[in-house]
Amino acid sequence: MNKETHVAVQRWYASYGRQDLPWRTTDDPYHIYLSEVMLQQTQVKTVLERFYFPFLRKFPSLRALGEAPLDDVLKMWEGLGYYNRAKNLHKTAQILAEEGQAQSIAPTLPSDIDKLIVLPGIGKNTAHAVAAFAYKKAVPVMEANVKRILCRLHKLTTPVDTQLWELAYAMVDKENPFDYNQAMMDIGATLCKVKDPDCLVCPLSPICQGKEDAACYPTKKKRVVPTREEHIMISVYNDKFSLSQRDGKFLHGLWGFDSIEVPLCASEYLGEVTHAYTHFKLTCKVYVYHELDKTQERYFSIEEIRKLAISKVDEKIIKLYLDTIHTY
Ligand code: SF4
Repeated sequence: MNKETHVAVQRWYASYGRQDLPWRTTDDPYHIYLSEVMLQQTQVKTVLERFYFPFLRKFPSLRALGEAPLDDVLKMWEGLGYYNRAKNLHKTAQILAEEGQAQSIAPTLPSDIDKLIVLPGIGKNTAHAVAAFAYKKAVPVMEANVKRILCRLHKLTTPVDTQLWELAYAMVDKENPFDYNQAMMDIGATLCKVKDPDCLVCPLSPICQGKEDAACYPTKKKRVVPTREEHIMISVYNDKFSLSQRDGKFLHGLWGFDSIEVPLCASEYLGEVTHAYTHFKLTCKVYVYHELDKTQERYFSIEEIRKLAISKVDEKIIKLYLDTIHTY
């Protein structure tokens, strides 16, 4: 990218960029890292309005996060989904807190991309984002919006990651990488949209090879989302509900109702709830069974359940149960 375009990008950012976002007005690596992890699968508005500040209030430092029980971290993550993000964030904080303790210093994130990338859950883009935003390194950031821009600038239909990183490195503004990277993400989010990009006002327009038929770059992949079906049993004893903590790969660490092969004969069918995950759609047929004796280990009242970290789908199951009993 030439000097002229860098200047145009910086000017655009000064006028239209979201410079007031709290993770853009701090240089605390932990705050920046947290925002990057939250923003991986979640919109800025949701992170800003519901999750970023409460999480930082509860865990104000890497050390506080590393020393907290995983259950507390998952509870604060409830509603954000993709819980592996929270578990990896917690593991990374634990590793850095231990390292900090061994060296008698406050734990912090490394500034080196090679050292960042070996920490749990930190991929190539997050490592670059922490290096660029917290440590002002002249390296590019390449999340989904920036990838789309690169494909359109260079008319790439089926890009390969190594090629995109090479292009991204060649384009980065070495004099002001912080504003450049933030601007590229904002241009991707607000101008170079998936549909109807605003090429007329885009500062990259003079160097964009794909602007005439921007929607062709990159080629959209057709995704077939499979459906998974489960039978869910709500066991009720003395107005309390049996929940267990999941230990499998799926929703690991969260509390939830049991999935069963075949519903018990004496159970009552309540209805169906569905939830869309990235790779599949889950349909749960929900049954309720009133226990006469205590058969499970853990029973919780509704108030107690509200304090547990549970998934969105289990929340929907509780709502279905409450809605059904209120209509009796
Ligand atoms: S000119 Fe259009 S297609 Fe090219 S980067 Fe800007 S918004 Fe995207």
